[in-house]
Amino acid sequence: MAEKYGPSTEWDILLRMDNMKKVLVAEDDEGFRVLVTEILKDEGYSIISTTNGLEAWNRLKQEGADLAILDINMPEMDGLQLLKKIRTDEQYKNIPVLLLTVKAFTEDQVSGYETGADDYLVKPFETDILLARLKVLERRILKK
Ligand SMILES: [Mg+2]
Repeated sequence: MAEKYGPSTEWDILLRMDNMKKVLVAEDDEGFRVLVTEILKDEGYSIISTTNGLEAWNRLKQEGADLAILDINMPEMDGLQLLKKIRTDEQYKNIPVLLLTVKAFTEDQVSGYETGADDYLVKPFETDILLARLKVLERRILKK
């Protein structure tokens, strides 16, 4: 029986797609946006990639997401404003949010946590750290 069903039957693929978590990424810096997107895709996440807070908000409302990674400094609507909208939205108020910022803006971290961020990452960061933090946030979803 085992030989009959190879490692990637259509059923396996469907199961995998079902377990695939969707991550909303909002980052105006192209280099970082591409980096984060590639890292997460390699890890099996499905990605909504956006370049500012407003675009991210619209895509979230249209397509939904399980987790969000938001840069703080962005045009149109910044990460903190977007986080505020997410935390007051009936449908998405509980999704885990990881904020990104550059070094030296420690006051950003305080306002980030006050606004309802779950975690914080200072750029530039190690790939492994990003993935590890995301896994922790993902476990929190599963516990619910
Ligand atoms: Mg930025």
